[in-house]
Amino acid sequence: MRRPVTRPLLPLLYAVRVRRVLPADPRFIMTSPIHQIMCALSAAALFPVATFAQPRSMPADGLRWYKGNTHAHTLNSDGDSTPDEVVRWYREHAYRFLVLTDHNFLTSVDGLNSLHGADERFLVIKGEEVTDTFGDKSLHINGLDVARTVEPQGGKSVVEVLQRNVDAIRQANGIPHINHPNFRWSIGRPELQQVRNNRLFEVYNGHPTVNNLGGGGVPGLEEAWDAILSAGVLLYGIAVDDAHTFKQPGNPDVAGPGRGWVVVRAPRLEARALLESLERGDFYASTGVELQELDVSAERVRIAVRPAPSSRYRVQFIGKGGTLLQESTEVNASYTVTGGEGYVRARVLESNGRMAWIQPVMVRARPPIHEDVALSLFAVVAIGTMIQWRRRERNRP
Ligand SMILES: [Zn+2]
Ligand SMILES: [Zn+2]
Repeated sequence: MRRPVTRPLLPLLYAVRVRRVLPADPRFIMTSPIHQIMCALSAAALFPVATFAQPRSMPADGLRWYKGNTHAHTLNSDGDSTPDEVVRWYREHAYRFLVLTDHNFLTSVDGLNSLHGADERFLVIKGEEVTDTFGDKSLHINGLDVARTVEPQGGKSVVEVLQRNVDAIRQANGIPHINHPNFRWSIGRPELQQVRNNRLFEVYNGHPTVNNLGGGGVPGLEEAWDAILSAGVLLYGIAVDDAHTFKQPGNPDVAGPGRGWVVVRAPRLEARALLESLERGDFYASTGVELQELDVSAERVRIAVRPAPSSRYRVQFIGKGGTLLQESTEVNASYTVTGGEGYVRARVLESNGRMAWIQPVMVRARPPIHEDVALSLFAVVAIGTMIQWRRRERNRP
C-alpha cells in the first residue's frame, strides 16, 4: 500500500539526506517542522516531494478488519478436541480466521477449509508451534503458514535456540512469533531482544500458567516490551488463546478459547495478506476491547473505542521507558507526536479488566536544528537561483 516515491529534482539533496537517516523499516518516523516547510516549498515549485515516512493507517477503501487467533491446539498434539471441533468453535464465535498450531505437527487445513471456509467469511491457516527446549527452559515459537513441518533446531543457548528456530520457520516460508516468554520463566527480556528477523511476540497468552504479568523480580510482558522498544528494537505484541481445552467451557484453570485475539486490517481474507499486515503492525491485540477506528500516522495516533454498555475506559499513550505520555478517559482519544518520544504505543484499559494493545511506531529524534536551517537556506537559495535562471532564459532574445 505504499504510495509511489518520486525523486524530485529540487529537493534532491534533502531527500538524499532523509534516506540516509531513515532505517530500512518504513515504520520509523521522523517528524520535523522543517520537513513540512520543505514539502510546501517543493509543492510551490511544482515538484513532487519524496515521501519518507509511510503512515501506517491506510485508506479505508478496500481494507477490512479481521478478527483471528494465531495459536490453538487439537488432538494432533495436546488439545482435547479434533481439528474439526476446534475450527467449528472459532467459526461459531464470529472469528474470521484461525491458525492451527499443534506442537511440532503441521495439521492439514485443506479439508477444514472445504468444510468451514468461505470467501471473506472464514479461513483456516496452517501452522505449527515449533516446540524446543534448552535445559529447563521451554522455547516455543509459532510458524504461521509454514510450507512444511519445521523440526526443532536446538542450540547452545536460549538465544541460539530461538534464532535457529526463527530462521528455520523463515526458510519454510512461515511467519514466526515468539510464544509466552514467561512460561516456565524461559525467555528473559535480554534474550527476546537479541532475536533477529522476528517481529511478533505474545504480549498476552490465555493459558492460565504462562505468567503474563511477571513476578518474583521478573518483569511482566508489557514492561519487557517497553524495555525492548526503548532499546530501539521493534516488536509487535499479539494476544492469543493458546487454546487446548474446548470441553470444559467456563473453567478458568484450563486453556480455553476466546481469551486473546488480534484484529488485523487487510485487503482480503487470505493468509499472506493477513500475515503481511501482522508483520507491518497493522493490527491491534485484544482481550475484549473493540475499536471502531484506529489511525496511526507520522503525526498522531488516534483511537476510537467501541464502548460496551456500562463499561468505562482509559486510553493510555506510552513512550520510551514505559513513560505515560498522555491518558484519556474519553472513548475517542488522540495523541500528537512531538518527536522526542522514542516510540509511541497505546493501550486501552476497560473497567472490568479487558484490554487492547495498539502497536508501536518508532519515533526518531528531530535532527539538530542547525542542520535543518542550513538545508532550508540551501533550498531557498537554490529555488531563487532557478527562478532567476528561468527569467534570464525567458528574457533572452
Ligand atoms: Zn507453547
Ligand atoms: Zn501452544
